Amino acid sequence: MNQNLPYILCIDDDPQVLRALVRDLKSQYREQYRIISTTVISEALESLLELRNKGEIVAMFISDQRMPEMEGVDFLERAMEYYPDARRVLLTAYSDTDAAIKAINSVQLDYYLVKPWSPPEERLYPVLDDLLGNWQSVYRPDFRGIKVVGYQFSPKSHSVKDFLAGNLIPYQWLDVQSSEEAGKLMSLNNLSQKDVPLVFFEDGTFLSNPSIIDIAHKVGLNPQVKLDVYDVVIIGAGPAGLAAGVYGASEGLKTLLIERRAPGGQAGTSSRIENYLGFPSGLSGSELTRRAIAQATRLGTEFITPQSVKDIKQKDGYKKVILEDGTEINTRAVIITTGVDYRQLETKGVPDFTGAGVYYGAAMTEASACTGMEVYIVGGGNSAGQAAMYLSKFAKNVHIIIRREDLSSTMSAYLIEQISGVANITLHPKTEIAEAKGSDRLGQLILCNIDTKEQQEVHADALYIFIGAKPFTDWIALDIIKDEKGFIKTGGDLHNCEAFKRIWKQDRDPYLLETSCPGIFAAGDVRAQAMNRVAAAVGEGSMAISFVHKYLSEVK
Ligand SMILES: Cc1cc2nc3c(=O)[nH]c(=O)nc-3n(C[C@H](O)[C@H](O)[C@H](O)COP(=O)(O)OP(=O)(O)OC[C@H]3O[C@@H](n4cnc5c(N)ncnc54)[C@H](O)[C@@H]3O)c2cc1C
Repeated sequence: MNQNLPYILCIDDDPQVLRALVRDLKSQYREQYRIISTTVISEALESLLELRNKGEIVAMFISDQRMPEMEGVDFLERAMEYYPDARRVLLTAYSDTDAAIKAINSVQLDYYLVKPWSPPEERLYPVLDDLLGNWQSVYRPDFRGIKVVGYQFSPKSHSVKDFLAGNLIPYQWLDVQSSEEAGKLMSLNNLSQKDVPLVFFEDGTFLSNPSIIDIAHKVGLNPQVKLDVYDVVIIGAGPAGLAAGVYGASEGLKTLLIERRAPGGQAGTSSRIENYLGFPSGLSGSELTRRAIAQATRLGTEFITPQSVKDIKQKDGYKKVILEDGTEINTRAVIITTGVDYRQLETKGVPDFTGAGVYYGAAMTEASACTGMEVYIVGGGNSAGQAAMYLSKFAKNVHIIIRREDLSSTMSAYLIEQISGVANITLHPKTEIAEAKGSDRLGQLILCNIDTKEQQEVHADALYIFIGAKPFTDWIALDIIKDEKGFIKTGGDLHNCEAFKRIWKQDRDPYLLETSCPGIFAAGDVRAQAMNRVAAAVGEGSMAISFVHKYLSEVK
């Protein structure tokens, strides 16, 4: 049966009549409609709620008038709350025709059908054909899939959208304040504003105020660890981790990739990567991620997401990777590819609006919400430049705030040229943000000129922050040597560290991407001296696997 066909719902408390009706309907309409039926009104109403939550469509109700639980007219009135556009047909005995005529006005009845209706070719199908044809002409298919109901400027709603988008799960965003459908779904399910964000799933169920892990379980992410011991566990599924996953699995290693948020890392948030080899017209970060996940999965890499690694321990030559939920995973080697995150802007007011107008990184999920708005970007690197180009397609104006005099020392020439050609992007050099203000969301920024100290209050709907990079390494407790900023030192670089001689007890030197703990490697942006490029991260992730092979051959 085609799962996308609209429904015809029939109800009659007499099972014999109902069977006859369903038989006649199926013989004529089964190719275009799904026919469902019940003898019990409460069951029908329950089904309607479930169908509505799933985003299914009902084209027509056919209801008996005289039923013990409720009259047909009253049922049709209730049914209208769920599907106001569905056609409504009342089945009546001859003696009930008065009630049916009254119902034409009260429930905008489309037709009343006097029982019996045989032969259907003459007394049933012509009428229903006409009503269904009429319904088809006004019916517009609804979005099918996950629906997220929430407030545009709620941090919790933002993190739900961010998670779904980052994991390439399509969803429809319904703003509580402006979407009729949001209001309808809430009232049908007796939900109030304290229950948002709400996530409605395709199976008709919903979660109220869910955690990301709850959503992940529901959409089939976050599977259980399958093996007792892996050859290599990779921590972080940015370009470096994904490349390590592809090479590890393709070279026969039992490979597990763990990601805290959504695969793709920083690159996954990029609107356009112009310089990745083999894509002459560029590609978006989400497209690169989609391809990489498909490739790694096809080759046999297992994924666990969303789960953070909170510790690595060594035991009897094995490594134990400990997840945030306490799960322990045994592995023979580890590759740390946890990349970097943006530094937090601690300026007065900014932390208060994070997720409510203030966003770190690209936050492409919120881009369309910037339509016609005044958007500010802090930072002068390539990521800030790409975000400015992308947001300029939606926003009324995009303002780039930088402390330097110009962008020449921080941004690629091609991006500077692109930005200067866009009329609604303005650069504010020698400027910093002194304060963020607003009520329940960001409303204004106070800008300060670094030289003159002159301050100016501007209206700001959104602020995107792209300042400095901080490696995701605070969680590492093992003897893994890091530089003063927290980036992991590897290979020959370790010889310059005082602690190295004390920690390293092997007869050989550490491999190029090996940390001060044998069998634990680091690749990509998290590594000290990294190149901070997608291609470099991919290269290092792939290289790390060849060192894993060397290490595993030693410890066999
Ligand atoms: C907006 C933007 C645009 C960019 N554009 C370009 C470009 O055009 N060209 C280019 O070459 N480079 C570009 N870059 C840089 C490039 O994206 C990075 O150099 C690259 O993503 C680094 O890859 P990585 O795998 O080392 O780390 P990341 O991409 O930072 O990935 C690290 C991953 O590890 C996860 N993680 C962190 N801690 C944990 C933990 N404890 N447990 C589990 N998972 C964890 C993170 O969630 C993340 O997904 C851009 C960067 C940004 C932000």
